[in-house]
Amino acid sequence: MTRYDEIFENNRMWMASKTASDKEFFEKLAVEQNPDYLYIGCSDSRVPTNEIMGLDAGEVFVHRNIANLVNNVDLSVMSVINYAVRHLSVKHIIVCGHYNCGGVKAAMQPADLGLLNPWLRNIRDVYRLHRQELDAIEDDHARYNRLVELNVQEQCVNVIKTAAVQQSYVERGYPTVHGWVYDLNTGRLIDLKIDFEGILHNIQEIYDLTGQGLMKKKDDK
Ligand SMILES: [Zn+2]
Repeated sequence: MTRYDEIFENNRMWMASKTASDKEFFEKLAVEQNPDYLYIGCSDSRVPTNEIMGLDAGEVFVHRNIANLVNNVDLSVMSVINYAVRHLSVKHIIVCGHYNCGGVKAAMQPADLGLLNPWLRNIRDVYRLHRQELDAIEDDHARYNRLVELNVQEQCVNVIKTAAVQQSYVERGYPTVHGWVYDLNTGRLIDLKIDFEGILHNIQEIYDLTGQGLMKKKDDK
């Protein structure tokens, strides 16, 4: 059997394993989805979203692209965020990057990458914003890894800039936004513990889209 055909055999076994433990597994899922999480990650085949989170079908809404970018003129990611927040009412939005990201590496090569130029320029912009810190790191590998982390942080900022996230958080207290990095070498997920409330407060000084004025930071009371 070719590897392509194996996929359908794998699928039959998967269906059987799901219905063995819960006869109505698929019927229940077919009615509606109610995920608590929106995951925005890299398309890299080595980062299997549901597996690394230990979540089943129906538990995480997913968007993936090269280097997990959240660009405000990308209709695809903006639609995903809007739908996830306004219709699915997700409680958490995760931007997940990964070390050894080919997209991040490519962005740092002094080369014309054709169609990828405008896409990867978002990462060069992240470098420009954090140039001092990054230029001070002598080891190339460590510098790339740090850029992966800073890219995640900046894409979280882009998520927080959206009207959907600001309005929902002010009105309902969710979603919160998290930045993660996945380590391909070990399989470990790392929470970068970004300061969501602090970032939201700073962003609202310029990007307030709630129509309700600035959100108070908890420690400003
Ligand atoms: Zn990647």
